[in-house]
Amino acid sequence: MRTRFAPSPTGPLHLGHAFSAILAHDMARAAGGEFLLRMENTDLERSRPEWEALILADLAWLGLDWDGPVHRQSDHLAAYNARLDSLGPRGLIYPCSCSRGDIRAVLSAPQEGVAHSLYPGTCRGREMAGRQPGDALRLDLDRALAALDPETLVFIETGPAHAGVHRVDPEAARRTFGDVVLGRKGDGIVAYFLASAFDDADQGITHVIRGEDLFAFTPIQVILQRLLGLPTPVYHHHRLIRDETGKRLAKRDDARAIRKYRDEGVTPAEIRRLIGLA
Ligand code: GLU
Repeated sequence: MRTRFAPSPTGPLHLGHAFSAILAHDMARAAGGEFLLRMENTDLERSRPEWEALILADLAWLGLDWDGPVHRQSDHLAAYNARLDSLGPRGLIYPCSCSRGDIRAVLSAPQEGVAHSLYPGTCRGREMAGRQPGDALRLDLDRALAALDPETLVFIETGPAHAGVHRVDPEAARRTFGDVVLGRKGDGIVAYFLASAFDDADQGITHVIRGEDLFAFTPIQVILQRLLGLPTPVYHHHRLIRDETGKRLAKRDDARAIRKYRDEGVTPAEIRRLIGLA
């Protein structure tokens, strides 16, 4: 078993991240497996070395050790783009100059809102040769689905809320994702769900352990894995740690930052109890 923790270094770790990291670490260690650490720092505007340093310090303080060097996505942009571009000659992507805000949203980290409007397909059919700087690359979802055997669009989920074998429903994928943005020409940034799927394959991750909020992305990741010949790991989406009002914790909830607890003299064992892992 090989698991990973894949934070975006755009803010301090909070209790929700601690839950995710401890779960992935403990599941791997219990199975005699490996636990890897990945910095999902493709959001170049919001990712900061200071946040990464704090994340490493918080994880060490929590008593988590990871195998191998830290994998930083910013070191792999050329490889991501080469793979993404390979979809061009297959007619599965097209350049798009529409709605730059929408494009930005998909290229930044998921914490800042997963919702994006469904693309009406204005640029569908544009040739890759006519690609301009600043253009996004969109997946032609209909062509992608037509190129795939629906029987292969399956994944296993072991998390408590959705345990079982899941089939990607093409109609639901059309309604939910449509022609999603996969990357942007110019700065070489790729969508976070794509970079994450590439890395899960490259790092040989067998079990993806992550928050329930990311369950919704799994179908598009499976579609991309099939298109690119990548394996599909087992997914385990865990419950989210919420505040007293039931709201999901976010990076901006500084009150629940691990650093805050450390400063207040809370122990790592108490953190485990706080999130129900002791
Ligand atoms: N980087 C994402 C986050 O911090 C996690 C992505 C994943 O685990 O697949 O929420």
